[in-house]
Amino acid sequence: MNRQLRIPVIAGNWKMNMGKAQTAELIGALLPLIRAEGCRVILCPTFTSLSTAIELSAGSIIAVGAQNCHWEKTGAYTGEISANMLTELGVSHVIIGHSERRQYFGETDETVNRRINAALAAGLTPIVCVGELQKEREAGLTTQVCGRQIEKALSGLSSGEVGKLIVAYEPVWAIGTGLTATAEQANQAIREIRERIAELYSRALADTICILYGGSMNAANCIELLAQPEIDGGLIGGASLKAVDFAAIVAAAAI
Ligand code: PEP
Repeated sequence: MNRQLRIPVIAGNWKMNMGKAQTAELIGALLPLIRAEGCRVILCPTFTSLSTAIELSAGSIIAVGAQNCHWEKTGAYTGEISANMLTELGVSHVIIGHSERRQYFGETDETVNRRINAALAAGLTPIVCVGELQKEREAGLTTQVCGRQIEKALSGLSSGEVGKLIVAYEPVWAIGTGLTATAEQANQAIREIRERIAELYSRALADTICILYGGSMNAANCIELLAQPEIDGGLIGGASLKAVDFAAIVAAAAI
């Protein structure tokens, strides 16, 4: 982390877990455990648990994010939820382009870009996910794949808009597998993503963008990962479902 340039973020992606009752239980257990001076904490529950999370975290340091949004404001898009609907609920952040959306729901670089535009227009902070598949890493394509994903995600955005984003580097092979990128691998990939943003915009802007690592981060490995100069926090799946583990990760990022 480079605290001079960026405020660390620890975000929990609860995926399709935790209904309303479990959300209340988990937030109730988390609140007394977290002290997050010098760090931002975001919880991203499933859609039906958003209002419970917002109610229970009101007045605390926890911000609430969604896991996806549609690019249109309204219309005949059965099953979809727009960015404006999320803002109306009190949601402040939204994960966009998670590899599970790309893998199972046909998310493309183009739809990622459209969702980012809609989220920004609605006043949400997008958490934009990029990352390579295992076979792409093995073929030495990590820089190329993440560079392409970030370039397409940011296509058409102004510097001011890019300055509002959070980016998450999530190597697909490390998500939910227990395999973590080494601290050096994660740091290098994030440095390269930042470099690409500097090429597309400016060094000054790239240096202010918070870039998280995601992929089996847990209470045991977070200290080494968060000690890397380019890693500005974590997007955490499995370990965000356990209050004690998530609180330990927040503690590692706080001052
Ligand atoms: C994620 O889903 O964004 C993630 C990083 O999951 P996990 O921590 O379980 O690998």
